[in-house]
Amino acid sequence: MSIYSVDEYISRAKAYVAAGGENALRHACLELRYCIESIVYQKLGKVGKVLPRSVYRTWQPPQALKRLLSFEPHADQDATVSYCVPANDGAPSGEWSPLGDYRMFPVKWLNENYHKLGKFLHVPSLKEAESPAKVTAEMLHEIINEVERVASANVVMSVNMVAVEPCTVCQSDMYFSQAQVDAGSEIECYNEKCGAKHSIIKVGDKFRVERAGRFSMPCKRCGQRMAIEDIEHGEHKACWSCGQLHVFGWCCAAVPTTTDD
Ligand SMILES: [Zn+2]
Ligand SMILES: [Zn+2]
Repeated sequence: MSIYSVDEYISRAKAYVAAGGENALRHACLELRYCIESIVYQKLGKVGKVLPRSVYRTWQPPQALKRLLSFEPHADQDATVSYCVPANDGAPSGEWSPLGDYRMFPVKWLNENYHKLGKFLHVPSLKEAESPAKVTAEMLHEIINEVERVASANVVMSVNMVAVEPCTVCQSDMYFSQAQVDAGSEIECYNEKCGAKHSIIKVGDKFRVERAGRFSMPCKRCGQRMAIEDIEHGEHKACWSCGQLHVFGWCCAAVPTTTDD
């Protein structure tokens, strides 16, 4: 029995692939998408109680794994978890004993394959219909192998601390881990319409988040402040609050001249 409880879905996916034919292969895609989603969400569910389910369930797995990587920079790499007895100062000492193996999809693999499976689950758009992607048993075998590898893990690791702070621009929640505090990382507002970047400044055993050195401007319609990060000439940006579009550009104007007469 897999730690992620996805065995049923894997067996059904295999049965559909064995049956062959376009219709059965599509059903296999659905089972495999379900496996991937289930594994990634279960991993996110371990990220402390601070990160509510209602937040991460709105993310698609590739986005979820990207967020997870910001919490745990090695979350998409396999690892062996061991344990030992700590010394009086809390540092590890004595012999390490193996506890189990942690497995996760590499984020690049997840991006490619999650979207690939999704393509076969909807009617192709006009553009896609010109050169429709073909679902093959070989492609699904490769995906099944990777899902089985990850599902063979016997440990799901979690992050030891996740903190939440409001974005200084739109007040949406921003989540980050102790690893990010220690590294003085840059974090981004979770509201995709805002995306304001902040620095985490560690002060002793505390920290604060700030946008020092970054620019924001008031919306021309509602007056709410909008974060401006790297704006290019001619770029459009909508206000996170009212949706008003703004266009940015260099302007030139005549410099008043002083005359002697
Ligand atoms: Zn924000
Ligand atoms: Zn506005």
